[in-house]
Amino acid sequence: MPSIHLENVSKQFARGIVALDNLSLEIGDREVLTVVGPSGCGKSTLLRLIAGLDSPTSGRIRLGGTAIETVPARERNVAMVFQSYALYPHMTCYENLALNLRLKKLAASEVDHRVRETAAMLEIGDLLGKKPRELSGGQRQRVAVGRALIRKPHAFLLDEPLSNLDALLRERVRHELRELFRKVQATVVYVTHDQTEALSLADRVAVLDRGRLQQVGTPEELYRMPANRFVASFIGSPSMNFFETDLQDGSFLLAGIVYDTGVRMSRRVTIGIRPEAWEPGSEMKGRVCWIETLGPQFLIGVQFDHTTLTALIRSRPAADTIDLSIDPAQIHVFDIDSGKNIRSDPREYSAGRQLQGPPLR
Ligand code: ATP
Repeated sequence: MPSIHLENVSKQFARGIVALDNLSLEIGDREVLTVVGPSGCGKSTLLRLIAGLDSPTSGRIRLGGTAIETVPARERNVAMVFQSYALYPHMTCYENLALNLRLKKLAASEVDHRVRETAAMLEIGDLLGKKPRELSGGQRQRVAVGRALIRKPHAFLLDEPLSNLDALLRERVRHELRELFRKVQATVVYVTHDQTEALSLADRVAVLDRGRLQQVGTPEELYRMPANRFVASFIGSPSMNFFETDLQDGSFLLAGIVYDTGVRMSRRVTIGIRPEAWEPGSEMKGRVCWIETLGPQFLIGVQFDHTTLTALIRSRPAADTIDLSIDPAQIHVFDIDSGKNIRSDPREYSAGRQLQGPPLR
């Protein structure tokens, strides 16, 4: 049985703003699902509906098999961690952690045991006597997670919990959260606009755009077979190159080489190539337009014919031309109008066709 089940859920606000549009999604028991998308795509609205802080305009939400639209937030047994942490400033960390348990009228000894157990798990035992203003951003973030954890809820809902941290700390806390999710074995719905965070934490990732679910799948599925151009551009960094071209029975011409994409059609399409898909090779000669150093790799702008594409390579080009090649299996083909990935449709795609030679001159 899925832990959280959303069925045709829509949320409309005043003046016709559609925050969520007919969204259906199943989140498995003890699954970590990240929800990613640009600002305003409906991520927080989705969490607020599950938490009961808002109600859907239409559709059904079930928690552990029980319909919850009419169940008030405090009875849903879900815990939410907000971007702002929402800690009580006048209370110590101990009191912040203990508050919910005290409200539930648990015995003092049980409260004390759970506070210390949670603090030990998050390694914040030495902070229990401090107030939030005496803590660093990362420490506050841990206390906020602890406050959710201590309730032992059916599901954790986290809304951009790392966005107030600097880049270095974000990375460290991200690793810690991943370990924590593994340890507590709970169902987690984690909202972020950061695709690296989404991919690295998740069992599955749901991508939203303008209130609509674009794709849900494992991080690998989204990276290797994005369902459409939006997902392809949002997932992966540096982002995918796109250009339009004419296919003739699935083949197109770039820098004098014919590439067979494997799709069986002749029409204008959008081609997508990830910068890291290029390999050193002698097939295609391009002109180096610019070079960015990204630590151990170089992102270069390469002009082929009239198209400038980015390529991520290991060594700095020695000249102002560069020879590259690409495996045709790494080429994505998108419908120009709908943006749909044509290669994800098995009826349109015969995999395994290889690069054709010789080059056209
Ligand atoms: P962000 O990443 O910027 O937090 P988000 O993806 O979480 O964005 P939501 O906060 O869910 O997006 O908002 C989705 C849409 O609904 C936006 O257009 C937003 O302006 C609108 N919206 C959200 N809450 C309300 C509200 N209470 N009243 C009216 N419109 C709202």
